[in-house]
Amino acid sequence: MRFTGLRVLKEGLTGNRGWAHHWRDPAPKAEYGIVIIGGGGHGLSTAYYLAREYGLTNIAVLEKGYIGGGNVGRNTTIVRANYFLQGNSEFYSHSLKLWEGLEADLNYNVMHSQRGLINLFHSDGQRDAFARRGNAMINQGDDAVLLDREGVRKHLPYLDFDNTRFPIYGGLLHPRGGTARHDAVAWGYARGADQRGVDIIQNCEVTGIDIENGTVKGVQTTRGAIRAKKVGIVVAGRSGQVAAMAGMRLPIESHVLQAFVTEGLKPAIDHVVSFGMGHFYISQSDKGGLVFGGDLDFYASYAQRGNLPMVEHVMEAGMTLMPMIGKAKVLRSWGGIMDMTPDGSPIIDKTGVDGLYLNCGWCYGGFKAVPASGNCFAHLMATGRFHGAAAGFRLDRFRTGRRLLDEEGTGAQHNLH
Ligand SMILES: Cc1cc2nc3c(=O)[nH]c(=O)nc-3n(C[C@H](O)[C@H](O)[C@H](O)COP(=O)(O)OP(=O)(O)OC[C@H]3O[C@@H](n4cnc5c(N)ncnc54)[C@H](O)[C@@H]3O)c2cc1C
Repeated sequence: MRFTGLRVLKEGLTGNRGWAHHWRDPAPKAEYGIVIIGGGGHGLSTAYYLAREYGLTNIAVLEKGYIGGGNVGRNTTIVRANYFLQGNSEFYSHSLKLWEGLEADLNYNVMHSQRGLINLFHSDGQRDAFARRGNAMINQGDDAVLLDREGVRKHLPYLDFDNTRFPIYGGLLHPRGGTARHDAVAWGYARGADQRGVDIIQNCEVTGIDIENGTVKGVQTTRGAIRAKKVGIVVAGRSGQVAAMAGMRLPIESHVLQAFVTEGLKPAIDHVVSFGMGHFYISQSDKGGLVFGGDLDFYASYAQRGNLPMVEHVMEAGMTLMPMIGKAKVLRSWGGIMDMTPDGSPIIDKTGVDGLYLNCGWCYGGFKAVPASGNCFAHLMATGRFHGAAAGFRLDRFRTGRRLLDEEGTGAQHNLH
């Protein structure tokens, strides 16, 4: 089934009775060539690119819940390529290019909206740091514009520019940054993988990883044992737990990150705005809700919900930056589990077990990485070689201390990222 404008029109006029399910609901087979554990954005995109780029279709994606129930459907949907360090910047640049062709590629409307992202700065020192970051982005081939205070005012007239603690000095505009509809990204990749023969199996939790003589043989699941020649662990907030099934202890702590949405409002905020000093960021969804969030809850947890101190902190930061937000009613808040690495950068690597691969550590920035992560992980799983754009994401950097990718300069303390 292909989506076309004509088809949408026809279905609209005939009661929308012709739409088919977007993916099948197959029972698990006894054996696959490749098993991907985790049906989040990264697991689904890995399966999609394995099938599309390498013609591998004897693949199952095993998801313990439902597609879109994890972080891929819980994030605040920001897509950007504004990283500073070599190792990160080429990866996110690769990802943004994939985003830009994604809807045509998947034949699916993921509502990718390049509305521009503005990172605010509040001191001369911060301006210098953002100028350097902008230059690094331009060197990488991406776009960046350093705005002075009046430049920011033209785009975001509703901000409080004269806050005594954080007066706004300017901002770094990343015009190609923006948002996408998060669950549509999961659905689009699921549909694309399914159309190429991948089995997407929901309600199938992996409970064990079978290893013999240092080689992976398959997985144990709540729906029986499944043999596999290769297994990819792509479970985001559960990375530490699932890797432990293979005897691995990862340099990862799982932390809660919350987000919030208001009632639907008329268009008010055109961009994604990031207020790093106050730990607050915001955009407006196509339905009109103001979608915003802040920092981690600052304690390790596997609960997909947050606690009140961070709610208070985020609301305070929002009021500081744009007092007008005080008039909006918050409709919902929710939380997701972030797999935080010590340097804030991810891991895409082989493991010490033959045939077992690891994709994790996306911290609170893995939504924008979904296309490139799947693309590079598929390359690794299919060919055994590291994709150039993800060559820096090796696990051993935490053992040796070399080639750490400490993007935010916050060191090894997880909760400072
Ligand atoms: C509030 C919030 C805001 C965020 N905002 C942004 C943002 O604006 N931009 C951005 O780039 N990133 C953002 N992120 C981060 C981003 O959502 C994550 O980094 C990314 O989604 C993680 O990858 P994933 O999609 O594969 O994870 P998930 O969707 O969590 O996928 C992992 C899947 O593995 C499954 N699983 C776990 N254990 C097992 C098992 N034993 N067996 C089978 N399946 C299993 C889980 O059920 C889950 O579905 C945000 C996250 C949160 C929570």
